[in-house]
Amino acid sequence: MRLQWASATDTGRVRRVNQDAIFADGTLFAVADGMGGHAGGEVASKLAVETISELPLTNGLAEAFKDSFSEANRRIMSKASRSENLRGMGTTLTAALVTVESHRELFLVQNVGDSRAYLLHRGELQQITKDHTYVGELLRSGSITEEQAAHHSQRHVLTKALGVESVVDSDIFKVVPVNGDILLLCSDGLINHVTDGEIEKILSANVPLQQKADQLVESANLSGGTDNISVILVEVVELDSVEQEVDAVSLVVPPQDDQVRPIVRGGPELLSIPRPIDKQSIVRGGRIFTTRVAVFVLLLLLLIGGVLYSVQLYENHSYYVGDSGGVVVIFHGHPGGLLWYSPSVVRVSSLHMNSLNSVEAEAIKSKVPEPSLAAAESYVRNLQARVKQQSFIAKHPLGLSTTSTTSTTSTTSTTSTTSTTGPGAG
Ligand code: MG
Repeated sequence: MRLQWASATDTGRVRRVNQDAIFADGTLFAVADGMGGHAGGEVASKLAVETISELPLTNGLAEAFKDSFSEANRRIMSKASRSENLRGMGTTLTAALVTVESHRELFLVQNVGDSRAYLLHRGELQQITKDHTYVGELLRSGSITEEQAAHHSQRHVLTKALGVESVVDSDIFKVVPVNGDILLLCSDGLINHVTDGEIEKILSANVPLQQKADQLVESANLSGGTDNISVILVEVVELDSVEQEVDAVSLVVPPQDDQVRPIVRGGPELLSIPRPIDKQSIVRGGRIFTTRVAVFVLLLLLLIGGVLYSVQLYENHSYYVGDSGGVVVIFHGHPGGLLWYSPSVVRVSSLHMNSLNSVEAEAIKSKVPEPSLAAAESYVRNLQARVKQQSFIAKHPLGLSTTSTTSTTSTTSTTSTTSTTGPGAG
C-alpha cells in the first residue's frame, strides 16, 4: 500500500498549552489528547504515543497492537504514581496501524476515549470510532438524539481513558480502504467546532493533503478554537492488493477471543455504563463544582456560621465599666473590641473620675469587665454610694451616720465601716 500523509496540531484560541500529541511514520499513526492539570496532560499524551511507537508492531499482529495500548496505560499510571504533580493524568489515544490480513491491506484502528477516526470512503465521510463518552453511551442506547448529544453539557465526560484504570478496554476496528480513501485521526478540538459535513467537504477538495489538514485546523479555530486541535490525514495512493467490495469499516475485533462484538452496542451492556471520567474538571484543574466540593463548602459555611454565632453571643454578654472624658461609663462590648464589634456606651454615670480614690480610678482606667448590664450598674452604684459616704464624712466629721448604714454595701471600705459603727457604739 502506498500512502501519503499530513498532520497539523494547534493549541487553539483559548488554551495556553497544547496537551495533544501526534505521531506518524508511514506504518503507525496516532493522536492523543491529554488531560490532567498543569503538566499532566502533556506528559500523558506524549507518553502514550511514544510508547506505542517504540513497540515492535509487526504487520498483522493485532494482539501486539492491542498490547501496546495496555503498555502505554501501564507507563502512564506508573509515572503518575511517582509524581504528585502528575497524579490523575490521563489521555485519549486513537491510532491506526497499516497491516495485511489474508493478502488484504488494511488499517487496524484502535481507540480509547473520544479522539476519533474517520474514513473518507469513495467520497463519503464515515466515522470509524465510537466515542467513549457518557453522552456517546446515551446516544448509542437511543436515550438522546445526535442533536442533543452535540450540545449536551456532559459531552466531555469520558467513560474510558488511558491512565485511569489498570485494565484497558479499547475498541479495534478493521478498515479496508480503496484507492483515494483518506483516513482522518483527530482530537475533539476539531469535532467540537467542525461538522462532519464540513470535514467531508474539506477532505474532498482537490488540494494537497497538507492544505486539507491545515484547513481543518483553521476551521476549528475560526469557529472558536476552544480546545487543542490535532489532525492526521493518511491518503491511500495505491493499493497492492485488489480492491474488494466489502464494508470499509467492518467490525470490532477483540483479539483475546474470537467473538465478534457489534459496533453498535446495546442490550445488557448499557446497564453497566462505565464510571465517567470528568475530562473537563481534570483539564481545567478541577474548577468544576463537584459534589465533594459542595459538601466541603457547606461544612465550611456551617463552621464559619458557628464561629460568628459564638462571637455574637460572647459579645452580647460583654459589658465593662470604664471612663470616657473623665466620667465613669458602662460600655457594651469587649474592651478594645472584638473582630468587627466595637464597644459602645450604654450608660453614662454622674460619677467623675476625680472623685474616686486612686485604687478605684486605676481599676476603672484598666476597665472592669462585668457579665451583664445589671452587674455593671450594680458596680457603679456601689462606687457612687462609697463616694457619697466619703463626701458626707468629709462634710460632717462627727455627724451621725446611722442612716447611711443601710446604704453601706459589701464594697464599703474598712475605714467607712469603722466610722459608721464607731459613733453608733459610742
Ligand atoms: Mg481535547
